[in-house]
Parts: sequence; structure tokens; C-alpha cells
Amino acid sequence: MSRSIATRTLRATPTPLIRPILSRQLPTLSTPKRFNTTQPPLPTATSSPRNPYLFLGASAAALTGALLVGYATAEIVDAKDDSSQNIIPEQAQSTGEKYPKSLMVNGVELPVITQVSGDAADVDKPRLVILGSGWAATSILKELEPNSYYTVVVSPQNYFLFTPLLPEAASGTVEARSLLESIRKICRRSRSHYCEGEAHDVHLEHKMVEIVGLDGKHFLLPYDKLVISVGAQNNTFGVPGVKENTHFLKTIQDARTLRYKLMNLFEAAALPTKTDEERRQLLSFVIAGGGPTGVEYAAGTYDLIHYFPDLLEKYVSVTIIQSADHILNTFSEAISVFAEKKMQNQNINVITNARVTAVEKEKIVYKKKGVAKGEKDTFEIPFGLCVWSTGVGMRDFTKRLNDKIEMQNNKRALEVDSRLRLKGAEGIYAVGDCATIENPKMIDIVIRRFEKLGAQRLNYEEFCAVIREILAEYPQSRVHLSKMRQLFDDYDVDRSAYLELEEIQKMLKDINNKLTSLPATAQVAAQQGAYLGKKLSSLSLQAPSAWAVTESTFKPFAYRHFGSFSYVGGDNAVVDMGDGWSGGGVGVYFLWRGAYLSKQVSFRTRALLAFDWVKGMVFGRDITRS
Ligand SMILES: Cc1cc2nc3c(=O)[nH]c(=O)nc-3n(C[C@H](O)[C@H](O)[C@H](O)COP(=O)(O)OP(=O)(O)OC[C@H]3O[C@@H](n4cnc5c(N)ncnc54)[C@H](O)[C@@H]3O)c2cc1C
Repeated sequence: MSRSIATRTLRATPTPLIRPILSRQLPTLSTPKRFNTTQPPLPTATSSPRNPYLFLGASAAALTGALLVGYATAEIVDAKDDSSQNIIPEQAQSTGEKYPKSLMVNGVELPVITQVSGDAADVDKPRLVILGSGWAATSILKELEPNSYYTVVVSPQNYFLFTPLLPEAASGTVEARSLLESIRKICRRSRSHYCEGEAHDVHLEHKMVEIVGLDGKHFLLPYDKLVISVGAQNNTFGVPGVKENTHFLKTIQDARTLRYKLMNLFEAAALPTKTDEERRQLLSFVIAGGGPTGVEYAAGTYDLIHYFPDLLEKYVSVTIIQSADHILNTFSEAISVFAEKKMQNQNINVITNARVTAVEKEKIVYKKKGVAKGEKDTFEIPFGLCVWSTGVGMRDFTKRLNDKIEMQNNKRALEVDSRLRLKGAEGIYAVGDCATIENPKMIDIVIRRFEKLGAQRLNYEEFCAVIREILAEYPQSRVHLSKMRQLFDDYDVDRSAYLELEEIQKMLKDINNKLTSLPATAQVAAQQGAYLGKKLSSLSLQAPSAWAVTESTFKPFAYRHFGSFSYVGGDNAVVDMGDGWSGGGVGVYFLWRGAYLSKQVSFRTRALLAFDWVKGMVFGRDITRS
């Protein structure tokens, strides 16, 4: 992509670094400047691997700008802690008359908790329970009108984690702590309460959610509105040995463990007592999964080489095993190819069209697809460290809920309607990685229109009116329905200037087949959370008896893609804006960092992150094993 296009994108947006949300940054195709394999730069543990002054000048300006933009626009969380007001659930009393003090569920009597902290404000208001403290949940809290509900947030993590930078934390570029913000602080803005625990089950008939507190005790929280935003868990796809022999990269603990292990391996390999073969094994890093997380982790790991004695470089191998025919296969093909070239330049081995069949203690086994009969198709790679990053699946809690609701039959996630309401349950929403929006029922709208008109076919004007109605209900189908004239002509097979029901059915079936579910990204989760936060705020202004009617007229959720980014190593990153605009290079890398700075939930994390990056540029990466 050309520089002028990049500039246009930036100008079109008042706060450009904020819009390309949480993925990985913005375009310019500048030439990568480093990693000449014959003459690598000579960094040490105490000096930066780049030209620090040149780099610092450019980046300090970018970082300061982003900091200021972020400061001016951010939702700055209040630093005052409210923990003094907190009381543990077993001390809480069921004060409201509306609820019993305890309830028998599944043969066990559990306490019903109506007040989770010493603060009784809003306790008589409708009850909103939010499960999770990730992207979707915090976006709801950001949009929720303060004091609109008695809101309780339940999560086993008392912090929000900025997941897009986990690969950087795992390879030592940023400190893990810089990615965390206290959920209690985030809750303060909306006057919500936090309770550390895990949702175990939802008792739909009582409108209560069963929580297992941090202390392991079960209790019930009543809700009028329940939001399920518990995310998803790593998916092993049933491959044997994955849980035992690989590392995931999903939590802050994962990042810490990986970083520790990585430094350990380099130090072990540097021991004078090691043989060549042992060194090769220790410094073999295999990443299963060639999506953005796998690619970023591979790139960050390879960058580390330059911090260790030159001697080790010849023993290091970084391999990505990808089942599709390209890495970053959700990006445009041009970007995937660009990323693959960058990886090859850095001696990162990319194996595509390959499926991992087993992971043993120190070796991974994979099978190549499309190999001619009689030729070898199964291979093994010994490793010192293997990272599994192939996709996500349902959490146990989500599965449990899925099983008990008859209308739920999606194996991947909880199905919601276009307004993010959980299908088959009242007062419950599901957002983020744990949810998927049902396939649009466009044909129902067409049939209603036919009934209204009392006709069996539509002329062009009537057809346009139906399409507009479909678009209002299912904004996600806009990309396939915007060219109405062309659609009408394409499906008017008999050239009658009318579309019969069968012709429209055929058209909608084709469109349905082309619609894909939204990806499991922070970008989607944050937008869904923001939508729901606004909706819940507006509902709170009405009596609960009016909620159902108001909701059905509330505009459906519409996703806007602001671009996907990935770091590909050597201070290069790539971007795909999703509408045919893509690019990569060093410029994109700085915008990627700027975008991440501006997306921080607090000024504190923004400052910590900026500090980590500047520190890294001046002093190099922290390679201590701590
Ligand atoms: C390493 C990595 C890098 C990524 N990079 C990007 C990127 O660059 N761009 C992008 O758009 N997306 C990225 N993603 C994807 C993104 O992180 C997810 O799509 C996003 O976190 C989903 O948000 P969520 O709110 O649905 O779930 P999460 O953010 O996962 O939050 C789920 C929350 O629920 C809590 N929880 C879990 N179980 C329970 C329970 N039983 N009861 C109550 N609470 C529970 C968890 O503790 C957590 O707080 C990345 C993901 C990873 C792992």
C-alpha cells in the first residue's frame, strides 16, 4: 500500500491511533532495515539491538503523541481503591425481601447473596450481573451509566488483561504488569461491585447464577440482566500430548512461564558443557498455529537471539506449523506472502498445509497434506519449547449452559440474536469470544412482506424495500446486499422484471452461505461490549416491564472492522484493513505501537507500556530470568 493511502486513512479519522482498534496497526510499505543474516547487528544484554538514537528519536515522538492522544481521549480509571468496602460473600446478607435467604439447587442449599460489598447504594435497583473481566466486560463497564443498576462483576481474575501484547510479554519486550489494570478501578466509574470467583452454573428458573467464590464456597447471585462474557479456552482439537507437553499463551501466567522458560533455555544452551546436538534441541522453538498470536510469538522469540552470544545463533531454530496454505490466513493473501518472506529472511521456518498429529515430551509430530502417494508425509521436530496457539473452544461453564438450553445447539459458542440476546433464555446476553451471532433469518422478513402485499412476486421498488428492512435487522449482511440493482438482475432468471419467492429464496441462500461468523477478536468483543453497555444504560431508564418491547426496537449490533495487525519481526508489522487496503513495514510497526498505547484502559498502563518500550530501546530487552 502506498504512503498516500496511509496518510488518507489517517486524515479521515479524527483520532487515527484509536480507530484501528486493538489489533495490530496501520499501513505503509517501507523497506525493512535490519536483519542482514550475514552481518547481524551486535547487541548485548546491556545495549539495544537497533541504532538506539535513531530509533529513539522516531519512536519518542510517536510514543509521546500517542500518550497525549490517549490521555486526552482515555477513560482514565480512578486510582482510589474501594477494597475497604468489600465484604466477603459469606458475611453478606440477603437484605431484600424479594429474594429468599437460601435456595435448594441440585439438592444443595446455597445462600442467596443480594449485596456483595458494604456499599448498599443501588441495592434496590434492577440487578445486573456481568461474568468476566476481559475485553467485552470492561467495554460494557465503560459505557454503563453509573448507578443505573446494582451491578456485580464476577471474574476469577481481579484485573483486565491487554491480550494483544501477551506475545511481547512472553518474549520479554514488555513487563507483564504493564498489561494489567485492576478491575476494581475499572468498576468504580460505573459504581459497580467486584466479586472474585467463577460462574459455575445458571439456574434459569430462579434467575440466579451460581458462583464459586475465591474460597471455593458456592453461592447464588440473583439477576434481572445477566451478561456472559467469559471468553473461551484453548482448543487442543483432541491432539494427544498437547496439554502435557506444550505451552499456551492465553493468560498472564502463561506469558510469565514462557518468558522464564525461554531465558532458561538460552542460558542452558550457553553452558560450555553442552554438545551441539543438545544446544540444537534446547534452542528449537516450535509454534503450532500460524495466526497472529503464533506469528508474533515466533517473531519476538527470534528477535531475542541478538541478545545472546553470537555463538548460539547457529543453533537457534524457530518453526511455525500451520494447517492452512498460508500463515496469517485471515489477512489478505498479499500480506500473508509478505509476512512469510519476512519470516524467511529471519530464518523462521514456516511449514504450511501441515497438521500436528501428536506432541511428545520433546518432539512434535506433523503430517503434510497433499503429499503424493508413496512419499513420506509424516515428520518430527525435536523442540526445547513448543507453543500451542491454534484456536479456541467453549469453557466448561459455557458448555454447561449450552447443554441446558434447548434452542442452543452450536458446538463452538453460545448463539445470540442480532441484539446479542442469548437464544432460548430471558434476560441473558452473551458477548465476545463465548458468543456467536445466529445466521440471519432473512427469509422470514421476505415472507412477511409477501403476506403484507398479498403478492407472490416483487418488483424492483418492493425488492429494495425488503432489502432495506433486512439490512436494518441484519447489518452484517450489508456487504452482500448493497448492490441491489445487480442482485435483482442476477436473480431475475426469467427476465420478468419481478422476483418470485423461489428466486429470492435462492438469492438469500447464496448470501447466507457467504456470511461468516465474526472472528474471536478483542475488536469484536469490545464493540459488542460497548453496544450492550449503551443498550443496558438506555433500558435502565425504563420500568423492567417495558424492557422486552424497547429491546425489540433497539437497533441490532453492527460490527465495523478497523483493521488487523501483526508484528512479523525485525521491527516490521503488517496490517489488513479488510477493505482491500493492506501494508507492512517499519512505519506500520510504529503505528501498531501507537494504536496499542491509545487502546489502554487507563493512563497508568499507557504510561507503563510507553516506559517499557522506551526502556527497551535504550537499554535493550530485559533478559534476566526472573
Ligand atoms: C495472545 C493473544 C493475542 C491476541 N491478540 C489479539 C489482537 O492483537 N487483536 C485482537 O483483536 N484480538 C486479539 N486476541 C483475541 C482477544 O484477546 C480475544 O478475542 C478477547 O480477549 C475476547 O474478549 P472476551 O471479553 O470475550 O474474553 P476475555 O478477554 O478472554 O475475557 C474473559 C474473562 O472471563 C473471565 N472468566 C473465565 N471464566 C469465567 C467464569 N466461569 N466466570 C466468570 N468469569 C470467567 C476471565 O477471567 C476473563 O476475565 C488475542 C488473544 C490472545 C490470547
